[in-house]
Amino acid sequence: MRIAEIHVYQMDLPLSGKVYRMSEGAYTTLDSTIVEVVSDTGISGWGEVCPVGPTYAQEHALGARAALNQMAPGLIGRTVTGPLEIRRAMAALLHGHNYAKAAIDIAMHDLIGKAHGIRVCDMLGGAASERVNSYYALPVGEPDEVARTAVERIAEGYPRLQIKVGGRPVELDIETIRKVWEATGCTRLSVDANRALNTRDVLRIGRECADIPFVFEQPCNTMEEIAAIRGQLHHGIYLDENTESLNDVLRAISLGVCDGFGLKVTRFGGLGGIATVRDLCESRSMPHTCDDSWGGDIIAAACVHIGATVQPRLLEGVWLAEPFMDVHYDSDNPVRVVDGHVQVPTGPGLGVVPDEGVFGKPVASFA
Ligand SMILES: [Mg+2]
Repeated sequence: MRIAEIHVYQMDLPLSGKVYRMSEGAYTTLDSTIVEVVSDTGISGWGEVCPVGPTYAQEHALGARAALNQMAPGLIGRTVTGPLEIRRAMAALLHGHNYAKAAIDIAMHDLIGKAHGIRVCDMLGGAASERVNSYYALPVGEPDEVARTAVERIAEGYPRLQIKVGGRPVELDIETIRKVWEATGCTRLSVDANRALNTRDVLRIGRECADIPFVFEQPCNTMEEIAAIRGQLHHGIYLDENTESLNDVLRAISLGVCDGFGLKVTRFGGLGGIATVRDLCESRSMPHTCDDSWGGDIIAAACVHIGATVQPRLLEGVWLAEPFMDVHYDSDNPVRVVDGHVQVPTGPGLGVVPDEGVFGKPVASFA
């Protein structure tokens, strides 16, 4: 089986009537890039990457499409042995740009799974669970309103909440954390600053919320800032945006700067990369999520498949953008969060088959 065609699509994903606010920006629409890899046997594999704007991480939508245009001609005609071989081929065509490579890597897993009639979670080691837990990320907002939403989400069945903080006076963040805790009593809480806090404010939140059992997620911009105050904090620390590569994860673990991770599929170049990080985390008993930034059914399915393979005691949840959007690519098998959990798709590959024409015309095609 060879790669015969690669098509790149662009899709705007509007949020369902709401602005989503994080420390570094507010979003109303996300720009997603979808990749279709077609084999010479006529099977299509699908991949997706949807950076949350240009300032959340070192990735942006235009960069993803430029990188795909750079690599795609070199992949046409290549024999498909396995996803690892295609990852090595991409490394020989372009240095870095893991997030763009991830779209191809996900598509290759989908294509190979469909060709052999097996699910992606089984290609990645086997599902430990057919229903994975999700968590709800409460956007930055007015403290009482955030607490009200938190109560609703817990009642809905979410086992874990993430409170977004940062980008405003720290007093408001402290008030929000306390109100969410007092309203829900949820003991699986994460406080995610998305790199925005300085060490002074992290120490203050830690002191003033010493009685609240949360973990800090990516409180500061750099690993060095976090390492500098780690010994003064009593809350656990998870890294997210600082883990741009497998090497960053190795560095974080070896330096002991964190207790767990918010993991993103595309940051590690796709499913093969995040599966390696999953195994490293298991060897050190480090809890982690399996997410991506945003996107539709394709990236959601990828997150659910890898999440299903994580030892349940270490899975902090699979975050999907789905609760914040009305768009689905596969009207027969949409990937949905129901009661705070997600069912693992049952079909071969990712278990998602986009509806005919849902992405419109490709923005680039290679054959
Ligand atoms: Mg995060």
